[in-house]
Amino acid sequence: KNQTVKSAVEWSHQFLAQVLGPGSLVIDATAGNGRDTLFLAGLVGRSGKVYAFDIQEEAIMKTRKLLDDAGMEKQVCLFHQSHERMDEVIGEKVDAVLFNLGYLPGGDIRIITTAGTTLGALEKAALLLKDYGLLVLVVYWGHPGGPAERDAVEGWAADLSPKEWDVMKISFPNHHLAPFVMIMQKKSGEASIQ
Ligand code: SAM
Repeated sequence: KNQTVKSAVEWSHQFLAQVLGPGSLVIDATAGNGRDTLFLAGLVGRSGKVYAFDIQEEAIMKTRKLLDDAGMEKQVCLFHQSHERMDEVIGEKVDAVLFNLGYLPGGDIRIITTAGTTLGALEKAALLLKDYGLLVLVVYWGHPGGPAERDAVEGWAADLSPKEWDVMKISFPNHHLAPFVMIMQKKSGEASIQ
């Protein structure tokens, strides 16, 4: 693709590639069609681990197929459950957590990530991150229900203590309804979330 400006997903991948490598641990909070999960599995390799969540059976099946076809199923644990409960199944700190918010592309557009569960999951993710780990969000918000979640997520990020977090946003102001990316790096110690 001959483009100078990367898409939101490409930016998210670029930042994740900076902190992840063979042996890394990462959470994909929204597996969807599995494209991000596959990308993450490639970065962490056989010695690493991707923990991937989705509430839709269809998403888990598509993601499993993509991983099987690529021979990368061994380094991924798929959970057919809400990401708000990620701390119940992950007992170790991770190098990065990715959320790709919105609906399953090609699926039922009424099944969307929503502010209540997303904020709960972000708090869990913040606590599961290692120091200097990255929390990366790709925020699709152009669908019904999207703006409310977008506002909640941006408010949550803006309230993170600047002593403990750096928060950055990449957006495309001249593209109507375009998704944007938020990158949050935990600087040290426990996250303090008001
Ligand atoms: N990363 C995906 C990819 O590469 O294809 C796209 C993700 S899609 C924008 C958002 C996904 O979040 C949907 O598949 C949806 O089922 C899932 N989702 C919605 N609420 C969820 C929740 N509480 N926990 C986990 N997944 C959820």
